[in-house]
Amino acid sequence: MKICRFDDDRIGLVRADVIHDVTAVLDRLPPLRYPVPLGDQLIAHLAELMPHMEAAANAAQPRPLGSVCFKSPVANPGKIIGTPANYRAHVEEAKRDAEISVHSGGKARAIEEMGLFLKANSSLVGTGEGIEIRHADRRTDHEAELGVVIGRTCVDISEDEALDYVAGYAIALDMVVRGKEDRSFRKSLDTYAVLGPWLVTADEIPNPDSLDFSLAVNGEVRQATNTRDMIIPVAKQIAWAASFYTLHPGDIIMTGTCDGVGPVRPGDSMTVTLEGVGSAVVAVRGRQ
Ligand code: MN
Repeated sequence: MKICRFDDDRIGLVRADVIHDVTAVLDRLPPLRYPVPLGDQLIAHLAELMPHMEAAANAAQPRPLGSVCFKSPVANPGKIIGTPANYRAHVEEAKRDAEISVHSGGKARAIEEMGLFLKANSSLVGTGEGIEIRHADRRTDHEAELGVVIGRTCVDISEDEALDYVAGYAIALDMVVRGKEDRSFRKSLDTYAVLGPWLVTADEIPNPDSLDFSLAVNGEVRQATNTRDMIIPVAKQIAWAASFYTLHPGDIIMTGTCDGVGPVRPGDSMTVTLEGVGSAVVAVRGRQ
């Protein structure tokens, strides 16, 4: 099932090249009182809502994909976790391009040494919202990645059971300002985390470690790889994250980028494609 959030917080089911508005299912979510639980309520209740989404979609008029603005399919993540240096070819290019590794003194360190990092939740947007370049005098790079959305609360889980806790997958962009500051600081600007265009539920992607993905800027392919080339595969990343943090429904893991990262500027258009999910065009604009 492909689930999206679009326009003014409408919820949609994507079938082929159309969207069916199923927003009415949100009435089935339990009412919340302060303090609200960590995580995303739609993702937390997804399993029980899915049959109602199917029924609502069957009754809804289809709308073309191009007629809506895609927001992040996760509205309220508990956290956004990033995995650095997870493809060997990207580690090699970071050694060649001092600007990529300047924050660690020009040395591209191994993933096991660096650990995972966090991006601010406020940086998250959908593919339809686009990237707003901040600090135009500095280099902003694209990093195309597989995005993993956690479906159920978990902590201290084994690698073998980790994929059972996944709600689904989406295209992710881990945008970054290159420089010497801490990684989280440079990757948490507004709009510098992109998820979408929709969430594909985990039942449709039994093996996340075998997916082609690519990114083109203005039609020129810059990044292309397969998730099988990850140094640390998806299940191991989840188990690693859950050994440090409790993971909540809606938590996002951006699983690392391949080689070919490079700068974007206002006016650029990125096209990102992920096998099993689809394609999205993400526009880049200046500060407005
Ligand atoms: Mn990244």
